[in-house]
Amino acid sequence: MLEIAALEKRFGDTQVLRNINLRVAPGELVFVIGPSGSGKSTMLRCCNRLEEPTSGAIMLDGQNITGCGAQALNRMRLQLGMVFQGFHLYPHMNVLKNVMLAQEKALKRPRPEAQARAMAMLEQVGLAHKADAMPSDLSGGQQQRVAIARALALDPKVMLFDEPTSALDPELVGSVLKVMKDLRQAGMTMLVVSHEMGFAREAADRVIFMDAGVVVEEGTPDQIFGAPKMARTQEFLSRVS
Ligand code: ADP
Ligand code: MG
Repeated sequence: MLEIAALEKRFGDTQVLRNINLRVAPGELVFVIGPSGSGKSTMLRCCNRLEEPTSGAIMLDGQNITGCGAQALNRMRLQLGMVFQGFHLYPHMNVLKNVMLAQEKALKRPRPEAQARAMAMLEQVGLAHKADAMPSDLSGGQQQRVAIARALALDPKVMLFDEPTSALDPELVGSVLKVMKDLRQAGMTMLVVSHEMGFAREAADRVIFMDAGVVVEEGTPDQIFGAPKMARTQEFLSRVS
């Protein structure tokens, strides 16, 4: 569904990603771990060209994102739902409007349809009862679930998560992970950067370990967490667990 092929990214003289090759099959949850600065966010941002890859290709459902012009890029970006550490909700709009806005503006969905879709997605993340609330009245975990609903409302083919729970108080993390687990059950294709190793063990199909801009090792959660082969992976896991 999503393929990253020979991706390289340089910022000036600094090479941040080297020959990254990664495929996410339909319905698969691929989990990316690695130390801070290893290039995880840059890799995700290259997927929808928030960062322009230096070379290599990104394919989404058989279409090349890297080659396409501005109009096609805008269409394809809508098919890649992105959830960041910060929630970036519009503070002056209620929850329902936040989930409707991009549907109306970007997909040109008629308002009643956008509203129905927004309510269905809020239902899915357990927040239908907060439709009229303002973002500032919600906990961080609830705001993040609204951000997930907003991304889902655009019917993405793949969801990209960049440390979606890192900004949350510990007691709020579980509610967001549960929504992600439900999504996986529902068959969503997901590429997730996170430090929630327990979640990875439970929910990931594959785990990728990145360090210094390269994929050092990949395998099932049992392989990576139970019997990592590479010294760098062992060292990282011994530090974080
Ligand atoms: P991670 O998400 O794994 O912590 P990042 O992808 O954020 O890593 O960063 C990888 C490296 O790229 C870091 O060394 C960072 O300083 C560098 N980097 C990221 N964005 C930029 C940028 N816009 N300009 C220059 N260097 C950048
Ligand atoms: Mg990052």
